Amino acid sequence: MKLSSLIRANVRSLHAYVPGEQPKIPGLIKLNTNENPFPPSPKVLKAVRAAVDGRLRLYPDPSAQPLREALADLHGCQPENIIVGNGSDELLALATRAFVEPLPADASPRAQSRRSRHVVQYFDPSYSLYPVLTDIHNAIKNPVPLKRNFDIPSVPQLKNEGVWDFKAALTLVTTPNAPSGRGYQTGQLEKLCQAQNGVTILDEAYVDFAEENALGLALKHPHVIVSRTFSKAYSLCFQRIGYFVGPPELISALNKIRDSYNVNGLGQVAAVATLSDLGYYRKNFRTIMQTREWLVDQLDRIGFKSLPSQTNFVLTRPPRYPANEWLQKLRDQKLLVRWFKNGGVSNYLRITIGTRDEIKSLLRAVRRMLET
Ligand SMILES: *Cc1c(COP(=O)(O)O)cnc(C)c1O
Repeated sequence: MKLSSLIRANVRSLHAYVPGEQPKIPGLIKLNTNENPFPPSPKVLKAVRAAVDGRLRLYPDPSAQPLREALADLHGCQPENIIVGNGSDELLALATRAFVEPLPADASPRAQSRRSRHVVQYFDPSYSLYPVLTDIHNAIKNPVPLKRNFDIPSVPQLKNEGVWDFKAALTLVTTPNAPSGRGYQTGQLEKLCQAQNGVTILDEAYVDFAEENALGLALKHPHVIVSRTFSKAYSLCFQRIGYFVGPPELISALNKIRDSYNVNGLGQVAAVATLSDLGYYRKNFRTIMQTREWLVDQLDRIGFKSLPSQTNFVLTRPPRYPANEWLQKLRDQKLLVRWFKNGGVSNYLRITIGTRDEIKSLLRAVRRMLET
């Protein structure tokens, strides 16, 4: 028996998601995975510590009820509009399973009638997990290019080009966009949502660093969901808490298929405490956005071409050496940034906004390399 025959064909041929490196090099300045450089609020650390005792033997709240109530208060909706996940990544995976019909194992995608019900659609470049989730589910990927400036094509443009599927079972929009950092206006997103016939998820992982958010669309349109996470803006990557806001019918479909205890207890405690100290985080958002503008300005003066960003990272085109050479040179100086081979951004570096001191160190290293 060939062991590979025991594995589903789509899993055998799967290109798994590649997470950013998490090296444990002492003194490394880590600007590669968009983590917040500031720690969680002292109130959060205190709440988590206080929860670590004999109660760890108990199962956590199965539906994260206290957290969903606090989130409902924050967003002016009902707990029924909210589902919490083990990071928003888990919820994105649940959405493909709940809303997209997988292909029969031996089907050719082109031969399918009613193809749209098998389609997961997204812009390129955007979050590189989407194609992986689609392949795991054995559904059809429909990546559609963003404009050269990373803007979303208008609905008439999408109709003209003929590639976009207005009936796709699931459409995923990273807004603000990653890896470019470009932000989108709610009006523009609403026009796109209104033109869609399938479920449309607005992935707002970075929205706290943006000028606008589109949460209202999830409470207004019956097929629109907004995805949020505590990871990036709320310094809680380690705890894995993300959530969807959307119409109760779609949310309850996701609830039916999730694990009973999908959200760990300490994560729930940390997230509830986070919501009790939002002022702390909003101050950090302002600092990060100021540092971002300062970094862009400093880089522009030494020949880098940066894209305007509404996130906690900057996509920038370096001078003199190819971007992957910069990646290595900076790494040698214990400065870790991100470079993407694919998605049409291989001439760019993506730099997470760290503390002002971390960004100063980065700029010092960059200037040194340009002087030699
Ligand atoms: C980081 C990220 C996520 C996942 O966040 P988690 O809540 O940590 O799983 C989702 N979407 C985008 C665009 C991201 O960058």
